[in-house]
Amino acid sequence: MRKFWKSVVLKIVLALIISVTVVFGITVGGIRLHRLNLSERYNFDYLMGGANKVILFVGDGMGDNHIKVTEAYYEREMFFTSFKKQGHISTASLDVLKSTDSASVATAFATGKKVHNKEISTLNTKELPNITEYLESIGIGVGLVTTDILYSQTIAAYSSHTTNEENVSEIIVDQIRSDVDLFLGSGKSAYSAYKEVILGHGFSYYNNHSKIDITQNKIFGVFNSEEEEKTNETIPSLDVLTKTAIKFMETNYPDGYFLVIECGHIDKMCHNANIFDMMKYLDNFDKAVKDAYEYLKDDKGVSIIVTANHETGGLAYNGETKDQINSMDLITYDGHTLVDVPYYIYFGNDQINQYFLPKVIDNTDIYKICKALLSD
Ligand SMILES: [Zn+2]
Repeated sequence: MRKFWKSVVLKIVLALIISVTVVFGITVGGIRLHRLNLSERYNFDYLMGGANKVILFVGDGMGDNHIKVTEAYYEREMFFTSFKKQGHISTASLDVLKSTDSASVATAFATGKKVHNKEISTLNTKELPNITEYLESIGIGVGLVTTDILYSQTIAAYSSHTTNEENVSEIIVDQIRSDVDLFLGSGKSAYSAYKEVILGHGFSYYNNHSKIDITQNKIFGVFNSEEEEKTNETIPSLDVLTKTAIKFMETNYPDGYFLVIECGHIDKMCHNANIFDMMKYLDNFDKAVKDAYEYLKDDKGVSIIVTANHETGGLAYNGETKDQINSMDLITYDGHTLVDVPYYIYFGNDQINQYFLPKVIDNTDIYKICKALLSD
């Protein structure tokens, strides 16, 4: 009888180990299971050369429910949900048992590799080549735009390498040395100390958005954040920045460019449990996507990708009306969760439009898609 119970206990322990492996991934004999497999499931070679202009919109913290609640509140559908290719992306980093962070996802987007939380285009001190470096080497212009501070993770992963997102000066120095053609974001006080170095690397430097001359070769636009004192012009909204970025790229790189445009404040407002400002930012994010589409819809070489890095706030939405949204607390958590986040893709090119994209892809696949589209 004792033997029988021993075998039952053994089976339960085995089953538990297998479940943990399947759900979280563990390292066995140096091979990290599950999470790395996610990044090796698909290749997107069939999209090769499908576009010469790609715009990647990243809604930081934007899960499905953020979109649904904003649609209910503003009583309209978000424009980007009309894009034909739709599905979800998995967001896990290599940190088992931790919810993901913006640095690891930004690195997955920029390099196609899974890393640990806080690593910026770097894995265990080894720098990982990012898509910006590849694109610049084949003559494609790159622009990076955010409502957030310019050294924040999404922009940093496309323009620098460091072992920890907190190494701000390392990020800034790398950004100045990078081949990125356009930076637009906040952080005026942090970047002002580097103004001479920025100018020395061929950038035109602006603290005032309305003064930007888009015919300049390289632009560093760094504005007051909304949190900073409003003594000068604060950072313009994302739709305004997006228009400037597209005009700059169309002027300087009419044959091909890659733009990353991030709304960092969907995440920030959820951390602050401020659903109303979250919806305001998401609404403006949608406007930026629509403006980009309207501006470029006659160009068959354009692809627009809308996605998120992770979900923030454990937002609970079950069909509540505008009145109910006004009176209820739908943000349930002050951090990031591990749920899959949506993707929406528009291809101007009819030939690639006929392909079926998998419904659930990995965050590393965003890199593969962008790279394939812009490769010859
Ligand atoms: Zn966050």
